[in-house]
Amino acid sequence: MMENKETIIKEAEENVLHTYNRYQVVLDHGDGVYLCDTDDNKYLDFAAGIAVQALGYHYPGYDEALKGQIDKLMHTSNLYYNEPAAEAAEKLVRMSGMSRVFFTNSGTEAIEGALKAARKYAWLKDGKNDHEIIAMNHSFHGRSMGALSVTGNEKYQAPFRPLIGGIRFADYNDLESVKAQFNERTCAVILETIQGEGGIYPATEEFLKGVKALCEEHDALLILDEIQCGMGRSGHLFAWQEYGVKPNIMTCAKALGCGVPVGAFVLDEKTALGSLAPGDHGTTYGGNPFVCAAVSKVLDIFEQDHIVEHVQEVGAYLQEKLDALVDKYDCIAARRGKGLIQGLVIQGRPVGEVVLKSMDEGLIVITAGSDVLRLVPPLVITKDHVDEMVEKLERALTKG
Ligand SMILES: *Cc1c(COP(=O)(O)O)cnc(C)c1O
Repeated sequence: MMENKETIIKEAEENVLHTYNRYQVVLDHGDGVYLCDTDDNKYLDFAAGIAVQALGYHYPGYDEALKGQIDKLMHTSNLYYNEPAAEAAEKLVRMSGMSRVFFTNSGTEAIEGALKAARKYAWLKDGKNDHEIIAMNHSFHGRSMGALSVTGNEKYQAPFRPLIGGIRFADYNDLESVKAQFNERTCAVILETIQGEGGIYPATEEFLKGVKALCEEHDALLILDEIQCGMGRSGHLFAWQEYGVKPNIMTCAKALGCGVPVGAFVLDEKTALGSLAPGDHGTTYGGNPFVCAAVSKVLDIFEQDHIVEHVQEVGAYLQEKLDALVDKYDCIAARRGKGLIQGLVIQGRPVGEVVLKSMDEGLIVITAGSDVLRLVPPLVITKDHVDEMVEKLERALTKG
């Protein structure tokens, strides 16, 4: 007999540290691109566990690959080789055109590794300990101390100072403001190719190319955070590929394992050879056979089932439908985004209210920033699912 919703919520609130104000639903299982709660309510999922479940729930072959690995070997530590990690690394390196990968357990850890690699790269060049990193206002890179230090959000940073030193902030999509922060100590610039949590702001081509040129001029590293916008979501496997601006280090997580906790920082040849060496960095769990079996299977599915091409097609359709909503409703001021990472700017009413009303209509959506409705569905949605989402969202906007 399943425990009821109130009991489960009460038990959680009495035992789990209260760091989230959660929606009052208890999710029970997933099916394709739908989620079911413990009261048997069904929701069309346009959040995907915050851009994680790129393949939805129970995609053919995925569960079997994981179950097979559970029966063989879950964990070994990084003192030994294992086949799933070797395979996952080969696929990620080949598909990104980068050179070496380090697997982590989360996005924030991928950022930590990228920051350490940048500092080490600069230190190997001049032996100094005063190197600076330029990060962006309204960015989000995670909650650990290093990642928080480059997250340009006063609310997140304030209670936790002192943070790591040598970080300067510039304005996203404002090349002059980045230029103003550059000096001979600058060792890296870190930014999201598409800002996610900050409100779904894609980089402009001029900005990204300009930052890359500044980095090259100063031999500083470009770190692109692809944790949310990567893995096909933008309509390219990695969002930077559309711009033709290759980073020195990119960070991945979220959809990389489609539900298992795994992240990665991936380095180009120059950075891989000239930064972290044995003893500099490590992880007990990172890249274990279980999570790497997932990464390996996910990358196979992306290739074999042409997931990125599908995102281009269904993303264009979604964009068209969202633009029509911007025209139709005064409470929607604008749309921003690419492919299947889209934001609607809500005005005249709290965006949180739209989320709650959508859930009442059987649609899961989330927010970004203070006024943006964020749509990051599984990448495997069809045009019919887009139509169903629009119907539900319109009901949420017009009812009551
Ligand atoms: C989610 C996110 C992170 C942090 O990832 P975690 O796995 O939550 O630590 C970092 N950067 C971006 C762009 C993200 O969206």
